[in-house]
Amino acid sequence: MSVSLSETEIQRYSRQIILRQVGGDGQERLKASRVLVVGAGGLGSPAALYLAAAGVGTVGICDDDVVDLTNLQRQVIHATADLGKVKVTSAAERLRALNPEIQVVEHRARLVAANAAEILSGYDAVLDGSDTFASKFLVNDACAAAGLPYVFSGILGFEGQLLTVVPGRGPCYRCFFREPPLPGAVPTCAQAGILGPVAGVLGSLQALEVLKLLLGLDTPMVGRLLLFDGLQLTFREVEIRQDPRCPACGDPEVRRPLCDEPGETCSDEGHGRPPGGEAGPRRACSGQPLSIEV
Ligand SMILES: [Zn+2]
Repeated sequence: MSVSLSETEIQRYSRQIILRQVGGDGQERLKASRVLVVGAGGLGSPAALYLAAAGVGTVGICDDDVVDLTNLQRQVIHATADLGKVKVTSAAERLRALNPEIQVVEHRARLVAANAAEILSGYDAVLDGSDTFASKFLVNDACAAAGLPYVFSGILGFEGQLLTVVPGRGPCYRCFFREPPLPGAVPTCAQAGILGPVAGVLGSLQALEVLKLLLGLDTPMVGRLLLFDGLQLTFREVEIRQDPRCPACGDPEVRRPLCDEPGETCSDEGHGRPPGGEAGPRRACSGQPLSIEV
């Protein structure tokens, strides 16, 4: 470990350094780590704030959107004064104000197949706070191709899902949800709504999982899809297995090159398609049908 902590950093992080699972070595490990947050929205907001506050040395933010008034009800990294501002800039300013000890990298782009490898390059882990199924499948596939661990989450209404994917150690998102849902099959947040704290719960859990990955703690949600119901306030799990026929992480002969899914957007301008009958992506195996979208 080539980094060392200043007296100020030791004081700033003292409440977590005293944890047996963190310690000075763990804090130095966090300082040396680079995490990419895809999407500065409902999930990415709390996640990026907690990663920055915890002292992750480099936090990258990837987003191509600007701050809209309808974002502020859940995207807590942005403020009213940021309306109209580029989201990565708004988020970066907030993170730098929170913790000037860390580096914040702004990627003003939508993650697509053509730029995924370049944007992901140099990061140790990825946190998926993206807002379309196309982006979610792309994050999964790009991380599988790069051998990067990542934490998925999707939310809608009062519900959320979370899965930690560690290449070589367990299934990926596509092992279970093989293909994106049919167009119009799942309502977007602009159609079905989302309550801010639901995004806060799932985004915070994603940050927790990423910190555990960086610290080398052997307890992430690998192979267990977490299902959160905010109305009943319940957490359930569905065990999922790696599929050797998975196009993203399966046997070499079935893997396919990175490509963009023809996805629908979840825009706050209401361009999404109307809801249909099937809820959630088409599954590769049986499990609880759930709608997911930011
Ligand atoms: Zn897979």
